[in-house]
This record gives sequence, C-alpha cells and structure tokens, in this order.
Amino acid sequence: MSSRCGHCNGTKWELAEESPDGSRYKFYFVRCAKCKVPIGVVDYYDTHDELKAIKKHLGIL
Ligand SMILES: [Zn+2]
Repeated sequence: MSSRCGHCNGTKWELAEESPDGSRYKFYFVRCAKCKVPIGVVDYYDTHDELKAIKKHLGIL
C-alpha cells in the first residue's frame, strides 16, 4: 500500500531543495509531488538517519 498525502490523497513524493528563513543550511523537503505539501525535512548534508526516520514515518521501512 502506498503512502498517501493527507491533503490531496496523492501517492507521489518528491524532494525539494529549500533554504528556510533564519537557517544557514539548506534542507530537502519531502513533499507531495501533486499539491507540494511538505511532510518531512531531510538534512542537506547528513541524510542517512533523517531519511530512515522519514521512511519510517511514511511506513515504507
Ligand atoms: Zn498532496
């Protein structure tokens, strides 16, 4: 079963590079490919643990 976006019910996800205001670092937002609602953030420089946490959150780990 695919993870579904709580906003538009979409099942496609994408990574978007963002630099939030007040942050010196860039992040990857995991967001719905359809409505662009972010559901998680991946550290730009050290992705492994964050990626695991997000996969767990998405239920694909
Ligand atoms: Zn969506």
